[in-house]
Amino acid sequence: MENIAFIGLGNMGGPMAVNLLNKGFKVSAFDLSADALARVAAAGGRAASSAADAAEGASVVISMLPAGKHVAGLYQSDDGLFAKLPKGALVIDCSTIDAGTARKVAEEAAARGLSMLDAPVSGGTAGAAAGTLTFIVGGAADDLERARPMLEAMGKNIFHAGGPGAGQTAKICNNMLLGILMAGTAEALALGVKNGLDPKVLSEIISKSSGRNWATELYNPWPGVMENAPASRNYTGGFMSELMLKDLGLAEETALQSHSANPLGALARNLYEEHVHLGNGKLDFSSIVKHFHRLDG
Ligand code: NAD
Repeated sequence: MENIAFIGLGNMGGPMAVNLLNKGFKVSAFDLSADALARVAAAGGRAASSAADAAEGASVVISMLPAGKHVAGLYQSDDGLFAKLPKGALVIDCSTIDAGTARKVAEEAAARGLSMLDAPVSGGTAGAAAGTLTFIVGGAADDLERARPMLEAMGKNIFHAGGPGAGQTAKICNNMLLGILMAGTAEALALGVKNGLDPKVLSEIISKSSGRNWATELYNPWPGVMENAPASRNYTGGFMSELMLKDLGLAEETALQSHSANPLGALARNLYEEHVHLGNGKLDFSSIVKHFHRLDG
């Protein structure tokens, strides 16, 4: 069985590492946050003192970091992990980052005799905890086969999108749509509430009608409608608005580079830009509902 180093144990990486431990994998873990590290150590992981310490003796490195600069810094900097890993090691980056950085990092990995996959995920923190994530993978097919037992310990659906960076491109298309539909769902619920409807009743109606979507079925943005959604715990423990803003920015860059129209994605980005600027960056992205309705009365 592979020895795994897991770097980045936040809202997503923490529960993913715990699922690997629960399936019997050996995991050495590292995060800049001592609290995040302690949670994985409590589940049986080795708490490493640095990323390099975690990678000592590892045959596989999995990372789950905020953005491209963190991923490039982890692997490529002067004291980065690429310089330390043995030839033949497999690197799986599950962060959502720009496809250009993903391709560049993968090129350097290949030049050093390492294998690399971009494997961003969908399914949210609930999917990470339940081990039901969707992995959207870019890279070589045989590297994906080597990674499969580990991905299956953390997820349910595994897609091979294409070569290096293709996982990130597919993920960004998905998240652009997610940002648009969350903002649209918030707008529709706020319209109904302002016109006298109960948000729970309206959500049930939409869930069984043609406007239904992931937000109305699993991740309702209105507080109190779904007990387990971040909206019902003050928008904590989910997918932060600042990360959604990052993803909408990546979608826009991709659209500009490929001369594609993305007017709805650009509008969603504009909404999230203002939302984050107003101090909501750390709140779950479903808090965009505040843009349409004052929740404090
Ligand atoms: P998070 O902020 O909760 O976690 C990131 C973790 O990385 C933090 O604990 C931070 O301390 C750690 N970190 C940052 N730099 C580090 C470094 N150099 N070394 C070690 N640790 C470092 O974010 P998250 O919600 O877990 O998201 C992680 C990635 O997954 C992002 O790219 C995000 O876009 C993507 N994603 C998130 C969700 C979600 O629902 N939260 C869903 C799908 C994809």
